[in-house]
Amino acid sequence: MEKNPKIDVIVIGAGPSGVACATVAARYGLKVLVIEKASHFGVKNVYGGAVYLESIKELFPKTYKNCPYERFLKKHNYVILNGNNSINVSYENNEDEKTSATITRFAFDSFLAEEARKEGVYFATETLVTSLIKKGNKIVGVKTETEEIYAPVAVIAEGFNSILLNEANLKKKTSPKSAILGVKETIRLGEETIKQRFQLKENEGSMYEFFGGLNKEGEDIPFSMGFLYTFKNTVSIGVGVSMETLLKNKVKPYEYLNRLKNNEFVKNLIEGGELVEYSAHSIPEGGYNELPEIFGDGYLIVGDAANLVDSVHFEGTNLAIKSGIVAGEVIIEAYKKKNFTKKILKNYKKKLNETFVIKDLKTYKNVIPTLLKRKNSIFSYYPKKIDEFFKLWTTANNKGKKQSYRKFLFSFFKERSLKELLSDVISFVKCAIEAII
Ligand SMILES: Cc1cc2nc3c(=O)[nH]c(=O)nc-3n(C[C@H](O)[C@H](O)[C@H](O)COP(=O)(O)OP(=O)(O)OC[C@H]3O[C@@H](n4cnc5c(N)ncnc54)[C@H](O)[C@@H]3O)c2cc1C
Repeated sequence: MEKNPKIDVIVIGAGPSGVACATVAARYGLKVLVIEKASHFGVKNVYGGAVYLESIKELFPKTYKNCPYERFLKKHNYVILNGNNSINVSYENNEDEKTSATITRFAFDSFLAEEARKEGVYFATETLVTSLIKKGNKIVGVKTETEEIYAPVAVIAEGFNSILLNEANLKKKTSPKSAILGVKETIRLGEETIKQRFQLKENEGSMYEFFGGLNKEGEDIPFSMGFLYTFKNTVSIGVGVSMETLLKNKVKPYEYLNRLKNNEFVKNLIEGGELVEYSAHSIPEGGYNELPEIFGDGYLIVGDAANLVDSVHFEGTNLAIKSGIVAGEVIIEAYKKKNFTKKILKNYKKKLNETFVIKDLKTYKNVIPTLLKRKNSIFSYYPKKIDEFFKLWTTANNKGKKQSYRKFLFSFFKERSLKELLSDVISFVKCAIEAII
């Protein structure tokens, strides 16, 4: 890079959102500098491991197939846990094209950054942005530990723990209700064990989502979900637990992960594995109801920094990439009009509203609040009842089935009030109706 070049766009953060935005702007011929605090792309970034091919294809249509995917997800398992028992609903897609794959975070971020570099994006790694430079209400540049860098527009892509946005009063501080802490372990099992244990052929992959089973007597029921993804030689296993639960129960996040790993079903999946990595990161879960203002004079906010995560489907990277693409397009528009004020940059919000990013968040806008409100039902009571039902279904007790079924049905009314049962049903039906209408 030439000395003291004129920079058109500064992007803070080389995650998927920042790199997508930088690529689109650089393709148009703008001088884009991405500032990344880590020494290597993705080394400190955390995720479960599934990426969605459609978004990568949109960003790099010619090269998305070269991304070093490890396994293409073909088997999708949804597992309800209760104590040591489990009910597994398994879906296997043998017809359609590959739509999602696992890839390590390091490989994913590195691939995106290297492709972006080929398109003309400049990167400054091992450089921490310490603050945003404001002139009145306008963002005019950034301060790093050693210098000030100015540009007509800055893109804040620093992920969910957006210290810069909080400091500049551009985003409300997150409440414990609006954040999940994700903790994850990478466990090495070896390629052959993975193929045998998960019944996978060459580059096929399997994923699991776990519901319930993490509560302990005397504790507040945790709002939590677990996951497991298969990679070539390893699996990633983790839980996302609401910060509110963690504070209330004063239970360490890894304790929840240990509870998941100790369930008999899960134990069998990871048996004999060697722990190779442990990591933790927070995830926004406020969804549509807690979207911050994502544009202002001289700046745009993309990806996790803008709370763009679909916690219902565990999707984040694709929303990050799409928001980055849209931000890049609006920056090009601002350059054409030589106007970097809200007047033009507000088109980012307008255009993003038309994409799956905001549409999906809107579709599920009441799902997470409903799950939070009814967490005792979802993560404890109904898993227990489903377990009881299957116990009944699979047990021959020589007493006659009808009597057992009646007893099971009446137990609902013994254990819960009609009002509680009805409000559970109404809440879930309401969420389902909202999702389709
Ligand atoms: C446990 C867990 C599991 C997940 N599983 C999945 C999954 O399976 N699939 C999926 O699609 N999504 C998943 N997500 C969500 C996904 O990781 C995020 O939505 C996505 O990474 C957001 O991308 P981003 O570019 O907005 O931010 P990030 O990926 O967080 O990138 C931000 C970048 O900014 C850099 N940075 C931050 N501050 C500064 C600064 N001041 N100066 C310079 N650089 C800075 C960081 O080092 C980082 O590289 C998961 C998240 C977690 C925590």
